[in-house]
Amino acid sequence: MSFAKKMLSSTVLFMVLVYSLQAATASPTPEKALEMLLEGNAHFVKNEIVHLSYLNEAKDKMLEQQTPFAAVVGCSDSRVPPELIFDRGLGELFVVRDAGNVIGPIEMDSVEFAVAHLKVPLVIVLGHQNCGAIKATLGGQKSVPELESIYPIVENALANCEAIGENRLVAAIKCNVKKSVEALKNSPTIAPLLKQKKVKIIGAYYEIASGKVTVID
Ligand SMILES: [Zn+2]
Repeated sequence: MSFAKKMLSSTVLFMVLVYSLQAATASPTPEKALEMLLEGNAHFVKNEIVHLSYLNEAKDKMLEQQTPFAAVVGCSDSRVPPELIFDRGLGELFVVRDAGNVIGPIEMDSVEFAVAHLKVPLVIVLGHQNCGAIKATLGGQKSVPELESIYPIVENALANCEAIGENRLVAAIKCNVKKSVEALKNSPTIAPLLKQKKVKIIGAYYEIASGKVTVID
């Protein structure tokens, strides 16, 4: 083989390798993405956080684009920041937050964008212990007037919620998560990708007391 041909074939090999590495980095399977999140949560629970050099990561990897491996729909509650709970760095999670982790039109658009354009293989709706938005809706108190657009969505989620064998508030928080998961699964943009198994949508519960995230069946 001539020198030029050798150079060409090693260049091609190198490019294939780089491309495969990029592809592997950009798109883990939904199962692998979940494993990565739960692994990060285990670091958080044990107080062994590994993502500390955020700024260096930002400078090195993501000036031109983002390739998050999961989207998280979480509550705005200051005790529930997804990047910390899952011990992930910049550019790894596409995060949508509102009081009560509900899905309205803006949240839906944001998740559809993450799934269809950024190709995230996993969407996780994360409810949490002692959620104020759910507490305020439960029992119909509606004690916080500022949550007026959120109440009807949570009320709808709690309409057929059965709190069997569990604390009523915890059950309501989980029902609300399931409703958000269902809403996302019914999106005309997301549904075909679910069928093709390109994305998975799951619900989870974050316990403030322990720091642990548990997947909701
Ligand atoms: Zn909350």
